[in-house]
Amino acid sequence: MSAAAQGSPTLVDTVLDIDHYIDGRTGVVGSTERADVYNPATGRVTGRVALATEADTDTAVAAAAAAFRGWAATPAHVRARVMFRFRDLVEQHTDRLAALITAEHGKVLSDAKGEVIRGLEVVEFACGIPQMLKGDFSENVGRAVDGLSFRQPLGVVAGISPFNFPAMVPMWMFPVALACGNTFVMKPSEKDPTLSVELARLLTAAGLPDGVFNVVHGGKTAVDALLEHPDVAAISFVGSTPVAEYIHRTASANGKRVQALGGAKNHMVIMPDADMDQAVSALMGAAYGSAGERCMAISVAVPVGEATAVELRRRLVEALADLKVGPGDEPDVEMGPLVSCVHRDKVASYLEVGLEEGAELVVDGRTGLRSDLEDGFFLGGSLFDHVTPSMRIYREEIFGPVLSIVRVPSFEDALRLVNEHEFGNGTAIFTADGNTARTYLAEVEVGMVGINVPIPVPMAFHSFGGWKRSLFGDHHVHGPEGVRFYTRNKTATTRWPNDTQVRNNYSMPTHE
Ligand code: NAD
Repeated sequence: MSAAAQGSPTLVDTVLDIDHYIDGRTGVVGSTERADVYNPATGRVTGRVALATEADTDTAVAAAAAAFRGWAATPAHVRARVMFRFRDLVEQHTDRLAALITAEHGKVLSDAKGEVIRGLEVVEFACGIPQMLKGDFSENVGRAVDGLSFRQPLGVVAGISPFNFPAMVPMWMFPVALACGNTFVMKPSEKDPTLSVELARLLTAAGLPDGVFNVVHGGKTAVDALLEHPDVAAISFVGSTPVAEYIHRTASANGKRVQALGGAKNHMVIMPDADMDQAVSALMGAAYGSAGERCMAISVAVPVGEATAVELRRRLVEALADLKVGPGDEPDVEMGPLVSCVHRDKVASYLEVGLEEGAELVVDGRTGLRSDLEDGFFLGGSLFDHVTPSMRIYREEIFGPVLSIVRVPSFEDALRLVNEHEFGNGTAIFTADGNTARTYLAEVEVGMVGINVPIPVPMAFHSFGGWKRSLFGDHHVHGPEGVRFYTRNKTATTRWPNDTQVRNNYSMPTHE
């Protein structure tokens, strides 16, 4: 058993094996291949995660398939009771889970705790799902004939999640799927896989029957096995746009229901009448919190008018000078490392790209870091000004602590800029004018909009999802759309034998 399973956070020098969780227990199945898992703050290997083959993935799907009939037949309120107990367990373990997130992902502890709490809100939503599974009934659609409709679970469903929210994104998916009566196979990111296993243990401790929730680790091989498996009915994916598009195409071609949430480039429009103190403090958190590794991070600031741009830039430069970068478990640190060395180097390479493209690098995050951080995957906050829409640093998702300022002369130009971007995940506008805000909300082509709110992540009882190339599929996650995604509608028309004359009728039944 791992140290984590015994209740102590794995902030130690030992290298732990991180195994699959299938049919209520951890273990390797067939393959013994493993990949390194790092503590990004120290650059040291802390774990070795199992990499599933197609056969290993089959074993997890088989466990989920075997558990499906029993779980689907369990009354919805009894399934909800498991969710209530799971909710309490996650709450009791929040600090430990947050420490594990920080140790593998790098984000600061308060942020890690925040992600557990946002995930917990979905569990709370799932506790009330019996209310949403109630059907409709119409009495007397014909003489002594009744009509009804209700929703049933799909079967085995799979979730594939990114590295940046190892607790919250899986919790966007499985609490809703399980409460609806499905069984689940989770394939977390191989960069920070521990959280999914910890959540699986807590589900078992909450009374979830074995096989209802399973975790397989790995990369493309495991994912492809899920996309092609005949016993997997639906796929929920969150990750980068190229992979989201591939998942949507492949799983759809294999007859599965798919929701695939992709990448983002989120703009914040700052109007001349915005409260600049509020806007700058919101922008600092939204651009540099979690080292910019959030799909709802603001990576483009759009000041309207030259005076707004000059003031915004001056204040951002001041605030960046105070940004405290360091290990996520150190008190007072505001921004931790990036998740991996490769990712840090990729983000840093965009600073060169921006310079070559003619943008002004006002603050260079490669400089000024504490000298004791050099083994970790750190990069300070960077700021570009005079970025234009044709530049790669504007068009592409960088997914790091790099903010670009794109100056525009008018509100109309700001709106056009946002609408012409290929991504449409989140956006925010800071203004004191109700009509400007209202027009922005009505006309912006983005799925989630903040009015003087920088990161407008909807609560669990609404649904989360972007537009355009930030989401492939028809359903957003959790909330009402999550319930629709994980269930399908069945209707029935019923009549019981009585003394009404029955005769052969060869025309379309019309209930006349
Ligand atoms: P990623 O696309 O590299 O990986 C996501 C998942 O897909 C992982 O489990 C990974 O193992 C798997 N995967 C990777 N390459 C694959 C391939 N070729 N074939 C099959 N599976 C593959 O994403 P990431 O780097 O882990 O996460 C960051 C990305 O996720 C960013 O683009 C971010 O915007 C996005 N994201 C989006 C949302 C959203 O709600 N839209 C939320 C969080 C993160």
